Amino acid sequence: MNFEEILSKIDSAIEGEAHLDELANKKQDPFKILISTILSARTRDSNTRVATERLFAKYNTPQLIAEAEIVTLEELIKVSGFYKVKAARIKEVSKRLLEEYNGEVPPDFEELINLPGVGAKTANCVLVYAYKIPAIPVDVHVHRISHRLGLVQTKSPDKTEEALKNKIPKNLWIKINRLFVRFGQQICLPKNPKCEICPLNTICPKNFTMENKMKKKKK
Ligand code: SF4
Repeated sequence: MNFEEILSKIDSAIEGEAHLDELANKKQDPFKILISTILSARTRDSNTRVATERLFAKYNTPQLIAEAEIVTLEELIKVSGFYKVKAARIKEVSKRLLEEYNGEVPPDFEELINLPGVGAKTANCVLVYAYKIPAIPVDVHVHRISHRLGLVQTKSPDKTEEALKNKIPKNLWIKINRLFVRFGQQICLPKNPKCEICPLNTICPKNFTMENKMKKKKK
């Protein structure tokens, strides 16, 4: 099975949109996508969605966030968790965008990772979801699924990104995150993956179907 077939099988097995997908499909501005990606760290999509919408209902530009009281920002994004760190980060990022980029989000990986608290995953999310520039944001789902499918054998998300880029044709990079995230949320779950209904169970070296059956028997 080639990569195109793998991605098409995943696509036909999953439903709905992940949060960033939703924003991209609604053509939300790159600033909102950047801020939402920062808010999405270590929380569920549902929390990110609420925090982003609450924040942007009140402050929807770098200027407004840069000038907002930190306690108000904390309150607005509280649901996303780690809200003190995240509030400080989005305020700092907003300031830097104003000072150095006239309030625009640069469509460039090197510039993005120079922003405070913006790492490779966030920078790549902005490229993919805000600008449709080929990139592979590697989050926990992409990292886990790439290993389970035997696509990579790496120790860190950065290495996974590099390895995937070497293996997957560039025209498909843009699809990886949006498909793997939902596949990881709906089928290839971190715990108890649904291998029995997985469209890739015939080619997946990790297929846990037997293991899952044994677990059920023991109960
Ligand atoms: S067979 Fe199981 S482990 Fe492999 S990709 Fe499918 S759900 Fe994930």
